[in-house]
Amino acid sequence: MTRPTPTSSESQVHPLPAPQESRVLDTDVGAIIGALTLVVVGLWSRHGGVTSLGDSAAKTYTSLAQLTGLLCSEAGLLGLILITRTPLMERRYGLDRMFNWHRLLGEAMAIFLALHIAFGVAAWAIPGGTMNAIQSLTGEEPYMALTSVGSVIVLLVTISSLKWFRNKLSYEMWYFVHLTAYFGLAASFSHQIVLGTDFADDSLARGFWVAIHVALVAWIIWSRWGRFFVALARPLRVSAVTHEAQGITSVVLSGAHLRKAKAQGGQFYLVRQLVKGRWWQSNPFSLSAQPTTAGLRFTVKSRGESSNAFTNIALGTRVIVEGPYGVCTPDVVNSEKVLLVGGGIGIGPVMSFLEQLTPQHEPIVLYRVSSEQEMSQVKGIEGLATARNGSVQTLVGPRATLKVADPFSADALLKAVPDLAQRVVIVAGPESMVKAVQRGARAAGVPVENIHAERAWW
Ligand SMILES: Cc1cc2nc3c(=O)[nH]c(=O)nc-3n(C[C@H](O)[C@H](O)[C@H](O)COP(=O)(O)OP(=O)(O)OC[C@H]3O[C@@H](n4cnc5c(N)ncnc54)[C@H](O)[C@@H]3O)c2cc1C
Repeated sequence: MTRPTPTSSESQVHPLPAPQESRVLDTDVGAIIGALTLVVVGLWSRHGGVTSLGDSAAKTYTSLAQLTGLLCSEAGLLGLILITRTPLMERRYGLDRMFNWHRLLGEAMAIFLALHIAFGVAAWAIPGGTMNAIQSLTGEEPYMALTSVGSVIVLLVTISSLKWFRNKLSYEMWYFVHLTAYFGLAASFSHQIVLGTDFADDSLARGFWVAIHVALVAWIIWSRWGRFFVALARPLRVSAVTHEAQGITSVVLSGAHLRKAKAQGGQFYLVRQLVKGRWWQSNPFSLSAQPTTAGLRFTVKSRGESSNAFTNIALGTRVIVEGPYGVCTPDVVNSEKVLLVGGGIGIGPVMSFLEQLTPQHEPIVLYRVSSEQEMSQVKGIEGLATARNGSVQTLVGPRATLKVADPFSADALLKAVPDLAQRVVIVAGPESMVKAVQRGARAAGVPVENIHAERAWW
């Protein structure tokens, strides 16, 4: 196993402290969502939304169009807050959950948008017919042409994020389509302010609405670009590259500012290689050793362009990292015994996690790979486990060649780890394996709150 090269003397190298725990509570998040919903529904009601319901058909449809429009904006605002990756929330929920909630809010936004359009057209169609309504709402009314373009973009982005479509697109293609949502949202903002009764005739409400949007835009610019420039000003450099197994390489990144960094085993960073053609793209890679002031180690499998470039990166290359992210860290374990399951390249986070455990955790590592050639750093993992009163079991070979149909069924897991129900289970690897382990562990009696994994967000 390659260890980061100490800067001057061994005594100067020490593990990085853990990032501060978030003090955000579920109730805080609930209160913010509740307050915003109350403001939105309150605005609608204050401007005659409730009294219009059940009045004439036109007034009812207009009222419903206003309510669904406001709820659409609220879902958009909440979704955008999540992609600021604010450490306050990330430390509590993890980036994977935040991205998944962002996706759900995007879907909710698209549903409200579709309803908003339908009610709007229904209301305008009453005096002059549907075609006239569509004509007015897509061009004749002020800012509606721009809004129509924005709405189409938002709907397309949501459709492109549905699993079926997403699986057909490359990550980059999906990501850049996704970025156009910012334009879509900005384009539809003006009609909210100048049309309808909610903001056009109420300066207090208008001031509030504009203020929260401006604040959010500033927050996003800082969190996405501000942090990027801070990281750019103090890049790390590749200090060691070690070939571990077929297509698998460990890369250590070092730099002076790591002395002030905080991170824990089990976490991951978004890694951006500052080389021609790659600087614009960042990829998530997990720490594969306990992070220290001497370096951050990542073990990467060559799967496509970025990971291939990273596994072949030259010593000294500048790399910037954003993070650390992830809440599947040794913090989730108290004094319980631990089962760590690593599949394929998922063994990286398992190793950094294992390194931070103590003998009281008696860690058992289940290492699943589909071929001998893929096995990486087995001696190192055995050394770490043995030093902590633990052991390693490997499961090698394609699924069809295994003795059992499901190596992660409750029976199979209990055979390998008889005291499973008393353990905390940590799992990292391909999504299908993570799900199989979660299922098997639950069936074997492990409480859900004792099973931890990083969820796939793509
Ligand atoms: C939290 C997390 C931790 C990870 N840790 C490791 C690790 O320690 N070692 C390792 O080898 N791999 C890890 N991965 C997977 C790694 O990020 C992808 O293999 C890598 O980004 C592939 O990019 P590519 O250009 O080489 O391949 P591509 O051919 O572009 O992508 C291959 C697949 O990787 C996924 N992917 C690509 N880009 C991204 C991205 N920016 N964000 C999320 N997923 C993406 C997509 O599913 C894609 O289909 C991790 C992924 C996540 C989500």
